Amino acid sequence: MNFPTVGVVGAGQLARMMLGPATNLGINVQVFASSDDDSAAQVTDSIVGDYTDELALLDFARSCDVVTFEHELVPQNVIRFLEKHGVKIFPSAETFIYSQDKIAMREKMKQLGLPNPRYQRYDSGVPNLSFPFIAKAPQGGYDGKGVWVIENQGQLDALPKPLLLEEKVDFSHEISIMVARSPSGEIKTWSPTLTVQRDGICIRTVTPVPELPRELELQIRNLSITIAEGIALIGVMAVELFQIGNLIMVNELALRPHNSGHWTIEGAVTSQFEQHLRAVLDLPLGDTTSTADWAVMGNILGGNQTDMFGHYGLLMARNPNLKFHHYRKEMREGRKIGHVLLIGNDCELAGLEREVEYAVDYLSGVINE
Ligand code: ADP
Repeated sequence: MNFPTVGVVGAGQLARMMLGPATNLGINVQVFASSDDDSAAQVTDSIVGDYTDELALLDFARSCDVVTFEHELVPQNVIRFLEKHGVKIFPSAETFIYSQDKIAMREKMKQLGLPNPRYQRYDSGVPNLSFPFIAKAPQGGYDGKGVWVIENQGQLDALPKPLLLEEKVDFSHEISIMVARSPSGEIKTWSPTLTVQRDGICIRTVTPVPELPRELELQIRNLSITIAEGIALIGVMAVELFQIGNLIMVNELALRPHNSGHWTIEGAVTSQFEQHLRAVLDLPLGDTTSTADWAVMGNILGGNQTDMFGHYGLLMARNPNLKFHHYRKEMREGRKIGHVLLIGNDCELAGLEREVEYAVDYLSGVINE
């Protein structure tokens, strides 16, 4: 039949959400999971192993036509080992580093002439930036873990080194844009999206970014294209940005499907998940046009709610347009366990946001009716 198998290292919700479009296209997806219970391992072929084990991953890769990632944690030496053994792996080790190491990413943005906050790599001594500033663990951070506001030398001394220090940017909004690039060099961008954060975690996205001037939108799209070309991206990437008036600065890159691109499942002609599969298989990319005036996504964070399915009924009856995505992950306080999405045409954005907020609060147990 000649349908390819895409191997995904990692079996969380991002791998799980690739399965819908893969099923439609007839593509096989095999995941390299850390446990049989992982979100994607529950619903597709999986191999359980340690992603830092070169030989285990090579074995996995041999049963795949192409390998990609859904998290940043696979060490560079492991990716390079696979490449040396002829595994087709996207993004490449050389490209993936910009998702794995925030210092390397800052250096690359500087080299590409793109707007960075003032920054430095810090090992010891007196910092070049004045307090307060932001310190970041160069590797392994997520959802605000590994990011600290530093007020004094004592706080800085207490953190493990090296660190990336950045000026504390006084931004008005955080914006993210998804971009895809295939090996043949084709590039597509989606509409930029507003990411609303609470305690370092994105709680909601709104697409398009309300009141974003057209010139700024174009600037953001062009910036994401410059990065995609500059790092030879293959697959999809989220470019997270700060907006300071008419100025845009890069915050960080994620070279994989991303939470800020979940809206594309129902809100764009081609979702980030389908596009990622197309890109790593070197197929022509799909149309990224939005399918509605607005798409509002709300993240459901783990709380004390246990009966998730039992709560669908009320919400579905209340709003037949609401779309549900449950990742079937173990409930843990603050962990992203699902999301809801509403698209709308010819309507007030505030109404959509209210509905999404209600659904999120109800599903996460903040309200009971
Ligand atoms: P993570 O890897 O956890 O996503 P980020 O680098 O995106 O880390 O930082 C998390 C949050 O911290 C950002 O969404 C933003 O709100 C804040 N932040 C990060 N860098 C800066 C900065 N230089 N200035 C001000 N706030 C920042």
